[in-house]
Amino acid sequence: MRRLLIGSILPAFFIAIWEISSRTGVLTLESLSRPSDIVLAAIVGLSDGSILVATGQTFETALLGLAIAARAAQQHLGLKRVAIVDYDVHHGNGTEAVFENDDSVLFISLHQWPFYPGTGGPDDQHETTLNIPLAAGSGDEEYLRAFEETVEPAVARFEPELVIVSAGFDAHYDDPLAEMRVSENGFRELSRRCAAMAPRVAAVLEGGYEIETLPGLVQAALDGFGAY
Ligand SMILES: [Zn+2]
Repeated sequence: MRRLLIGSILPAFFIAIWEISSRTGVLTLESLSRPSDIVLAAIVGLSDGSILVATGQTFETALLGLAIAARAAQQHLGLKRVAIVDYDVHHGNGTEAVFENDDSVLFISLHQWPFYPGTGGPDDQHETTLNIPLAAGSGDEEYLRAFEETVEPAVARFEPELVIVSAGFDAHYDDPLAEMRVSENGFRELSRRCAAMAPRVAAVLEGGYEIETLPGLVQAALDGFGAY
């Protein structure tokens, strides 16, 4: 169970709604029907990859994870190839399970390892699943090196029409859950690089358990995505 109360995270929701003019993002089924409209951010999970979805001026509760967003993008927007880049500090085991035998979705997870939930080790790889376990204490340098050497080449080879970012901020150095050392500037740069990987980008807000720093980290990621 997450430690955050919904009330305390509402400011993060508001700054996590963004618009990227020519880019189409997908987060809610509602937004899929007007794909040129907005990129909606902010699903803050009570468990990884789900729950509250901010849509414009309304909030709705939905069990809507990255996997559903990716699948909906394929079915409703006709996109064939979707890449998911997960920089949340935990391994995206649920997303991996959905897509490990699906060559239309490339799933890449960077995460502290060994660490909860224990999956995503160096031997856990599939044709379109790329796990990048990183040692505790890794920071901007290690994450950016992994992007340059592994993530960006893999996504470039895959040529996705959409990148969905599993944007968790629990790899930040102030986060109480994990032991990574990513900075605010690091998240800005990782997000900038994600946005450069495909003609369309969307992001889902996932982990991040230090409520004082989380809004600033979300803002940095939005800067990186080119939203503001
Ligand atoms: Zn996490």
